[in-house]
Amino acid sequence: MGPADIKAAARPECGGRPIRTAAEFDGWVKERSATELTEPFTFVVDTDGVLRLAPRRSEHVACAGGDRVLSAGEIGFVREAGRWVAGEVTNHSTGYCPEVESWSAVAESLDHVGLGRPSAFTHEVHFRRCPDCQDNSIVREGYYVCVFCGANLPETWNVDPADED
Ligand SMILES: [Zn+2]
Repeated sequence: MGPADIKAAARPECGGRPIRTAAEFDGWVKERSATELTEPFTFVVDTDGVLRLAPRRSEHVACAGGDRVLSAGEIGFVREAGRWVAGEVTNHSTGYCPEVESWSAVAESLDHVGLGRPSAFTHEVHFRRCPDCQDNSIVREGYYVCVFCGANLPETWNVDPADED
């Protein structure tokens, strides 16, 4: 399925759970099993700057209810000194291919909830759109070459969904 198919399948009620406050986060945690909480979750930060969480392996586009996002990726939570904090956070979302700089939106959304967090994505994924074949590629180990056709990839992020419509 491409993003358009997923968007068509995404109904608003299937969107990720909005987490705006510490109370909403606590309520969400209570509904999770201990095993589930050891795994990362799918997240997006919606255009209102609100963190939305969905079970792991959920499509990011579905988590966002088909809307645009400020950031997206995977997030894990760990207990630290009796409190939940964000542990591992990545921008790994092949649905949105967010830029590494979208961390600031993630940081703001977590700060708003009052959750401790790292100072940057703990694993950064560098997405680029190939200028030749238009596929979205991931830059690996500083090697700016499209894995699909071998063309050179630009050094700056260029996967802006606003360019698509
Ligand atoms: Zn290519």
